[in-house]
Amino acid sequence: MRQPGGIGIFGGTFNPIHLGHLRAAEEVRERVGLDEVRFVPAAAPPHKSAGELAPAPDRLRMVELAIADLADFRTSAIELERPGPSYSIDTLRALRNQLGEVRLVFILGLDAFRELHTWKDFAEIFGLSDVVVVTRPPCPDGLTPAQIPLAAREAFRYDPISESFRHASGHVLTFQRITALDISAATIRAHVAARRSIRFLVSPAVEAYIVERGLYRQEDVRR
Ligand code: ATP
Repeated sequence: MRQPGGIGIFGGTFNPIHLGHLRAAEEVRERVGLDEVRFVPAAAPPHKSAGELAPAPDRLRMVELAIADLADFRTSAIELERPGPSYSIDTLRALRNQLGEVRLVFILGLDAFRELHTWKDFAEIFGLSDVVVVTRPPCPDGLTPAQIPLAAREAFRYDPISESFRHASGHVLTFQRITALDISAATIRAHVAARRSIRFLVSPAVEAYIVERGLYRQEDVRR
């Protein structure tokens, strides 16, 4: 995947958005040569427990604050505008319809990729967009064919020259080693609940918003 241009789609719960997300998006943007990255907060993430979730408008707002003034990072409220569970495949189909032939690059961490077989219509993601899987501690790094969900594996062949897996649709699946930032939203929520500092884990505007809105203060701190 070396031809430049296109739109990165970075979905997540962003509960809250942290520097691990931002740095991952930046490194993929630069390496792939994307025109922009769109952060897509999930309104009702199918795989996360609702009890731990800040309201979707707050999570969206924190993404907006984190990327304010960055011309090549944008926020998409598409999953907040849609009722029901926020399935990535529905988002990709909608964006594909909206944006036409533009190159879409779906971005996700290796931890999320390893759960891909549990996602709705996951195999169709590869027919709609290129996919970049980024490293995330503590997952062992390296994307092996065995990590491609079985139901989709046969549709790929490995291209050693570009070091990518090429899908029957022509889209590519690449693996990108990025700066290891062992930051998770769960740890940040636990820090807030325990009244510990989250400075340098989230951007200052996000930290201020969490304080102002009193987010995550009641959470169970036994992590
Ligand atoms: P939680 O701790 O609540 O489970 P999270 O920190 O994993 O949240 P998500 O919003 O679930 O954050 O992540 C969205 C996407 O960002 C996923 O594809 C995930 O793999 C990736 N991601 C999250 N944190 C990092 C990180 N530190 N480095 C690289 N990728 C990350």
